Amino acid sequence: MKIVSVVGARPQFIKAAAVSRALAAAPGLEEILLHTGQHFDAGMSQVFFDEMEIPRPKYNLGIGGGTHGQNTGRMIEAIEGVLLQESPDWVMVYGDTDSTLAGALAAAKLQIPLAHVEAGLRSYNRSMPEEINRVLTDHAAQVLFVPTELAVKNLAREGIAGEKVRLVGDVMYDAALFYGQKAERQSGILDQLGLSRGNYLLATVHRPENTDDPRRLAGIMRAFEQIAGEIPVVFPVHPRTRQKLGKDGLQPAGSAALRPGAPCLIQPVGYLDMVMLEKNAAVIATDSGGVQREAFFHRVPCVILRQETEWVELVELGWSRLARALDPADVTAKIEQARAATPGRSASPYGQGDSAQKIARFFQERG
Ligand code: UDP
Repeated sequence: MKIVSVVGARPQFIKAAAVSRALAAAPGLEEILLHTGQHFDAGMSQVFFDEMEIPRPKYNLGIGGGTHGQNTGRMIEAIEGVLLQESPDWVMVYGDTDSTLAGALAAAKLQIPLAHVEAGLRSYNRSMPEEINRVLTDHAAQVLFVPTELAVKNLAREGIAGEKVRLVGDVMYDAALFYGQKAERQSGILDQLGLSRGNYLLATVHRPENTDDPRRLAGIMRAFEQIAGEIPVVFPVHPRTRQKLGKDGLQPAGSAALRPGAPCLIQPVGYLDMVMLEKNAAVIATDSGGVQREAFFHRVPCVILRQETEWVELVELGWSRLARALDPADVTAKIEQARAATPGRSASPYGQGDSAQKIARFFQERG
């Protein structure tokens, strides 16, 4: 059985790392990776292929840098060309980016069965480009690999139910378990940055709702500066955020070295360094879907810099709390609350770390 997997953005490389390994180990399955080029610089793309040993993409479309509409349109056309050439049995897409939607539409137009990994998530906020991508992809898919019970219910409300909905757990949990051990052996990031275990805040910010609103970005940066007066704040900065910080005149507040009172802004790091930073943080503040779950996987309290989350289990279990990015006082208060929190450790709403194997088994049974 031949599967074309479409990836393009950082979180998709991490999910694909887990799934591609399971597919490669399953006899009878051939996977072809197609990279759209949505994330193209080395620190956002190549580093993951190298250190996570993801198979080389057979195709790299080199499409990025345009508007959402331009990118999605160009990707559909180019992915269709690859699908016509390869004639796969399935197309697989991940998550909620432009690459996800483009892969879904290209498959649907050619009537090639579509599998969606991380299906069924909803923020119920249609102003997020990711929400539109998720909803449309779920409605085009022939099989939906779902991470949580709640995602199954979300789909049922939209009339998507039955055999095609497969509750497999979260493939990011598989990645966190596998690479978490590797990170302990291989990452030297704590020494490089002069950090001590359990005594710093790790931050990431990249959602358009935060980066594209100068007031929200300024609010978040002000909160980080306040926290940096107490404990080091390490902030690997996404390229979009770096660009906006520069434009809004916020860049000089941070530096690449640890200084009291200033967040330490660094380039995006590879996954092994990221896992190491996550595992050893006192608290994590993020608007990332992946990082908020990884905080939980490594049992580190988290503050979500958003109005809502698709991963509501994290809030219900007490591992995460939402903070209003516009209000630095709310962000700092939530960070203090998170540092003092002692939630229960036993719940595992994201499966057992064998999600990728379950996905591989699904295809094998149909091979
Ligand atoms: N990540 C990383 N290096 C960084 C920041 C994030 O490896 O400097 C990883 C992180 O551990 C997670 C994934 O990137 O696995 C999350 O991607 P992102 O926040 O870009 O997207 P989202 O999860 O919000 O879709």
